[in-house]
Amino acid sequence: MLLMIPGPIEVSPAVCESFCRPPPSHLSVDVIDAHARSLELMRAVWRADDSSQPFVVPGSGTIAMEMAVANLLDATDVALVVNTGYFSDRIAEMARRRGASVEEVTAEPGEVPTLDAIESAAKRQSPDVVFATHVDTSTGVKVEPRAICELAARHGALSVFDGVCATAAERFDMDDWGADVYLTASQKAIGLPVGLGMMVVSEAALLRRKDLRTPVPMALDWEQWLPIMQAYEDRRPSYFSTPASNLLCALPIALQEILADGVEARWALHERKAAVMREVWRRLGLELLCDPSHAANTLSAVRYPDGVGPELVAAIRDRGVVVAGGLYPGLQGSYFRVGHMGYSVTRPDHLRRTAEAARDALVSLGHDRDATFDDLEF
Ligand SMILES: *Cc1c(COP(=O)(O)O)cnc(C)c1O
Repeated sequence: MLLMIPGPIEVSPAVCESFCRPPPSHLSVDVIDAHARSLELMRAVWRADDSSQPFVVPGSGTIAMEMAVANLLDATDVALVVNTGYFSDRIAEMARRRGASVEEVTAEPGEVPTLDAIESAAKRQSPDVVFATHVDTSTGVKVEPRAICELAARHGALSVFDGVCATAAERFDMDDWGADVYLTASQKAIGLPVGLGMMVVSEAALLRRKDLRTPVPMALDWEQWLPIMQAYEDRRPSYFSTPASNLLCALPIALQEILADGVEARWALHERKAAVMREVWRRLGLELLCDPSHAANTLSAVRYPDGVGPELVAAIRDRGVVVAGGLYPGLQGSYFRVGHMGYSVTRPDHLRRTAEAARDALVSLGHDRDATFDDLEF
């Protein structure tokens, strides 16, 4: 089975080999070294400078989101959420549970809120923190983080991006753009199994944590984790909560693969392969859920054609490829999602098999477009 959902994704053989081992102690020299190198390499992948702080903690993308929210918002604060779908709803709810007042700027499913709409909400509400989802995995839309960073800075707010379906695949320049938090999880474009929450945090965001009055849950607290990250980066053993030691052994391997030709080249590769996959959907007579002008490069959210429904996902699986159903509340039954990120964009055979399985599955369901892909550079 070929796993082509928007996370977890297929991982490279070198990554697989490095975590498939008996559990090492979190205090062993190789885990300490792998952790230290991972923090250094994260700054390179995130395009973050030395004043910023990377964190790697055991957990999922949702834990990383919760960590950002818990360390930045007091109950008296205002959060502005640029809402592009399912995961933006989630971070808005986290901010509400923290007691903050939450203003959301929304758009139709598959659209992104305009900068004017975000700007006027910021003028009205004077937010302390602006949250956005870089790529919303429910609709396949991508926001423009740079403009949102600039807007947040103009209003004296911090900017936080959920990059769970984007980091290491979509263009993001933390230092140049002035973003304050960019978070992800190991099982998306980073190319590891599920199990690590990851983020890089600016100096300004760390300072804001120090000024919080509302206590931060201990397991999520940057102040707890900061000395641990600093110790690892200095290659000293340290303990607060047991890190995922197998995954840490694989993390520098995955980050080095991302940086092999430079992170710019990695973004460009995702862009090229996403364009090829969009051409596949076009030849199959299928449409994206979102406007192509802000379609993500990491996945495609594709509408079912007339007369075909969620049985397509099963028919594609019968042909050896696992894709995902819809996720956007209310629209789940009208589209499917295909991940094209990380290791699989370096594997033309993965992309071709996915295209052919989708075509053959559509034919089996009576939607016969007789498309060929021989001329495409997967
Ligand atoms: C997958 C995803 C998450 C959630 O990550 P989990 O590891 O499932 O908790 C959050 N945000 C985005 C954009 C995602 O794609």
